[in-house]
Amino acid sequence: MVHQGRDGELSPAGARTAGIRRRLLAWYRKHKRDLPWRRTEDPYRIWVSEIMLQQTRVAAALPYYARFLARFPDVQALAEAAEQDLLAAWAGLGYYSRARNLQKAAKNIVERGGFPRDHSSLRELPGVGDYTAAAVSSIAFGLPHAVLDGNVARVLSRVAPELGDIKSEAVRKRLRALAEVLLDRRRPGEFNQALMELGATVCVPKRPLCERCPVRLYCEARKQGLENQLPVRGPRPSADQRAKRLLVVEKAGKVLFWQRPAESPRLAKFWELPEPEQLPTAQVTDYAGIFRHTIVNTTYLVEVCRATVGSRPDGFHWVAKASLRVLPVSTTAKKALALYDRSLRNNTT
Ligand code: SF4
Repeated sequence: MVHQGRDGELSPAGARTAGIRRRLLAWYRKHKRDLPWRRTEDPYRIWVSEIMLQQTRVAAALPYYARFLARFPDVQALAEAAEQDLLAAWAGLGYYSRARNLQKAAKNIVERGGFPRDHSSLRELPGVGDYTAAAVSSIAFGLPHAVLDGNVARVLSRVAPELGDIKSEAVRKRLRALAEVLLDRRRPGEFNQALMELGATVCVPKRPLCERCPVRLYCEARKQGLENQLPVRGPRPSADQRAKRLLVVEKAGKVLFWQRPAESPRLAKFWELPEPEQLPTAQVTDYAGIFRHTIVNTTYLVEVCRATVGSRPDGFHWVAKASLRVLPVSTTAKKALALYDRSLRNNTT
């Protein structure tokens, strides 16, 4: 279960977060690729590597990186370079605006009198977005900024799990929040690189190598057999497969339910768990997991979340867990509650 707010180390979510950090960092120290930008603390060299890797694979970037730094060993040299020398050093890498922005930024740094040392000043440099500012500030200066690039978004969408369209702004926001929660603030640069390395070498887009994964025990997609279906790209998983979210709001042994009316075309008078649209003020606090449920020809991927509400909303009832056995509860709600109870047990053992 992943806690979406600040994690307390004594809570099950906090223990899970600590477990992910510990195993991921241990794995990274043992298995990380030996790359030149990992052997330096020079922010200039780290920044150049981040820009170069934006649209270029590691193997392709390596010779360019060495040549570029031999030719322009520091910010001053880059700021003073003739444009034709700069473009010649970049030739073959494509996306030449990256090289031009590097030089614009280098001139800016020289004018400022030094390399910017915090996220917001880095963000002001031409060609530096949120990702690059977070990567450089965490790796070069040890500042607690979580990165969210394509690799990290894929890993987190599986660990969470996240069923929404990975390209949507709402999902990016949720994944960013999760990245911030998981970030090891004592070693942010190393943690960020470990997560990116996991995405690049183990949690790859097709057929992730889960058997070798250090966080497999905590990965919800793995537990549910969904690792090859996530992340979701596009508004829905597929034409006959839909995403749905159910909320478990629990208070003093009672769970919030609503009852279908007698005239309901399906499951009349059955008891159901709420969906987020029915409880717009509910706060989702944890993910419990995900399961598949087929109704006629449609398969639902049902995500179960723990949530809280201020007071009992109109049309809802607190139902004692003990009385659920004797009430007509829909199969979807039963499955969701069973998964929820299982996740509570798993996270307290
Ligand atoms: Fe990715 Fe598999 Fe690891 Fe989950 S267990 S994070 S799907 S490699």
